[in-house]
Amino acid sequence: MGFKRYDGFMGSMPQKFIDDKLPKCPMCATNNPYWTLSHEIIFLTEFYLFKCSECSAILSVRMDDVVKLMKSSTPKLNFFRKLTSEKPQVYFKIKVAGNKQKTACYDGVEMTIDELAKLADSL
Ligand SMILES: [Zn+2]
Repeated sequence: MGFKRYDGFMGSMPQKFIDDKLPKCPMCATNNPYWTLSHEIIFLTEFYLFKCSECSAILSVRMDDVVKLMKSSTPKLNFFRKLTSEKPQVYFKIKVAGNKQKTACYDGVEMTIDELAKLADSL
């Protein structure tokens, strides 16, 4: 699977999403993870893969979950979503813990994006 940046218009939504939500890598604590993207299909389910360029840690998340998360954070939709404004619980899996891991073994652990951001902040 090849990883690359999607800074253009096409396919840049998940790129922006991870750059915004996780500006610091939760595995190696770099402030410039320069996330690259790839995807894979497991049992007919599509996953995004986000790779830290510093430590090669890889996070995986279901594509439709990312879409759900992005929709829930689009201001335009907030008015209509107010009644059911529960943030969708979306779990990112730490597929590869990376080679500069500063934390305990998180290989295969699943966390929400907020928990990952908190973990990154605690490093
Ligand atoms: Zn990293």
